[in-house]
Amino acid sequence: MKCIFCGNSESKVVDSRYLKDSSIRRRRECLKCGKRFTTYETVENNPMVVTNVNNEREAFKLDKLTKSIEYATYCQECDMSVEEISKTIEVKLIGLSKQEITTKDIVKVALEVLAEVSAMACLVYYTQHTDCESFDDIRRFINR
Ligand SMILES: [Zn+2]
Repeated sequence: MKCIFCGNSESKVVDSRYLKDSSIRRRRECLKCGKRFTTYETVENNPMVVTNVNNEREAFKLDKLTKSIEYATYCQECDMSVEEISKTIEVKLIGLSKQEITTKDIVKVALEVLAEVSAMACLVYYTQHTDCESFDDIRRFINR
């Protein structure tokens, strides 16, 4: 991705946002001249590999993420649709720029996104995807 100002090919992503037409808008900052520009990309081919807690590797599956978000947001009032939420999480995961991500990365990013959407959904997701065992764990999480 060449800088439109100086032509340098190295830039860093400062912000990624999922748009309703299935593209990602990225704000990039040129590592040479420091100027910022915007690029639009599509998310059709997502090559991310996920390593789970048993160290097994599998391709990232958006369906799986969407199902867990559907569960967490069930009966909750959210400003975003389930699809928008899971796409936003996917975009943020891609933004980590790691070839391999872990299930922990997914949970962390999902909680960040859900926290902005619905506190209850965030809490449901948290209890489903972490080894929280007591109200104390949840309380610690809330106060974090
Ligand atoms: Zn530049």
